[in-house]
Amino acid sequence: MPDTPSVTDEQVAPAVDDLDTIVSLSKRRGFIYPSSEIYGGINAVWDYGPLGVELKNNVKRAWWRAMVQERDDIVGLDAGILMAPQVWVTSGHVAEFSDPLVECATCHRRYRLDELPGAEDVSPADAADAAIIERLGLTCPNDGGPLSAPRRFNLMLKTFLGPVEDEAAIVYLRPETAQGIYVNFRNVQQSSRKKVPFGIAQIGKAFRNEISPGNFVFRMREFEQMEMQFFVRPDGATAAFEDWLPRRRAWYETLGVAPARLRTREHQPGELAHYAKKAVDVEYRFPFGWKELEGVHNRGDFDLGNHARASGENLEYFDPSTEEHYIPWIVETSAGADRAAFTFLIDAYREEEVRGEKRVVLGLHPDLAPYKVAVLPLLKKRSEIVEICRRLRADLARDVMAVYDDTAAIGKLYRRQDEIGTPWCVTVDVDSLDDGAATIRDRDSMTQERVPIEGVKRAILDRMAAARG
Ligand code: ATP
Repeated sequence: MPDTPSVTDEQVAPAVDDLDTIVSLSKRRGFIYPSSEIYGGINAVWDYGPLGVELKNNVKRAWWRAMVQERDDIVGLDAGILMAPQVWVTSGHVAEFSDPLVECATCHRRYRLDELPGAEDVSPADAADAAIIERLGLTCPNDGGPLSAPRRFNLMLKTFLGPVEDEAAIVYLRPETAQGIYVNFRNVQQSSRKKVPFGIAQIGKAFRNEISPGNFVFRMREFEQMEMQFFVRPDGATAAFEDWLPRRRAWYETLGVAPARLRTREHQPGELAHYAKKAVDVEYRFPFGWKELEGVHNRGDFDLGNHARASGENLEYFDPSTEEHYIPWIVETSAGADRAAFTFLIDAYREEEVRGEKRVVLGLHPDLAPYKVAVLPLLKKRSEIVEICRRLRADLARDVMAVYDDTAAIGKLYRRQDEIGTPWCVTVDVDSLDDGAATIRDRDSMTQERVPIEGVKRAILDRMAAARG
């Protein structure tokens, strides 16, 4: 796939100009709240409300479906958040997983150097240069005060394991899920009897003590990753990389993200992480610029090679067809579940004018929508109508997330469901009592179709299958 860094911010408009639109919708409708809000919150930790947890679970389910369920060459794993501390020494995280931190001498605010205006493009070598602040003429964006020389700040969060809080008891909260996969490579390969090439996929929490978190849930200190490590023969890594990159970009498009708001960007040699031979980011045009959504990395034999040396265990793979022993190379796809959910939320948002009124719609893909269907009585005073609706909702709920609502007039009920992305509303009216039919209303086209009540579930499931293609 061609790299497209020539696409600039100016040429592609974000789906939403002002991030506050999404932040306030999220709070008002129950997608995302600040953590511990009644105590003033805790920086860069967010909680998912009733709709947010559905959306994020759907994102993870869609990823698992594409990466595990539909593949016969990838299996799943759920490793612990806490790992033997040596893992993080071997992986290079203790020595290398740090960002350049600078501090203002007057207001004492701290910044990540490469997020300061004028320093966005500094290379790792520049970031290690004590004179870089002076050279670039950087000052504190808050009060213009003088900034310190950059120092490396390790992003791993620590805690203690066991009753004694001493150095020997220190363990890390994993900053990525990938290491759980590497240290289980032999277990998984032997128990699943998979032959190289094959992959191991995992979804789980990761923690990073980010220096400058922000932009809502874009950069959090506690978040979830969806990572897949694909183990290949060393000479197959390049082809595997070229296969995975377009696949991963297409995943976002299949789930509704506008192709124009996606691009790929290759890391320059000076920018490559310590483990990477090649790295390309899938980027999205957020309201605050083009930013990484997911990274695809050729990690060579860095991980299994280092873990084999440090643990003294043999992590080679024996290929029975060629009788070769080798350390597999790894191609990794590393995505964030929160960042993906955030992206789908932003990209789905639209405002339209319908009969002179503003209509807010979350055009979420039906697989991602928190509720697939809302069941709405046209007359809540008629107990027979309410009764039919309640039964219909209960029946639908055996297969999909379905909600009943009778707390407003029908126009308002539709608007509420549009705003949270419910693809279909089913209404039961007085005629239903005679003809045994209900109306299915489509979120996007707003067209309505009359369907026998006993056929409603089939119609919804058919529409969901059609949306999946
Ligand atoms: P950056 O350079 O922006 O700090 P990174 O390159 O270190 O990010 P990776 O280590 O490649 O990020 O992480 C893989 C994926 O995990 C990212 O593409 C992103 O989707 C997600 N991710 C990483 N850090 C965070 C975070 N602090 N909050 C939310 N998601 C994150």
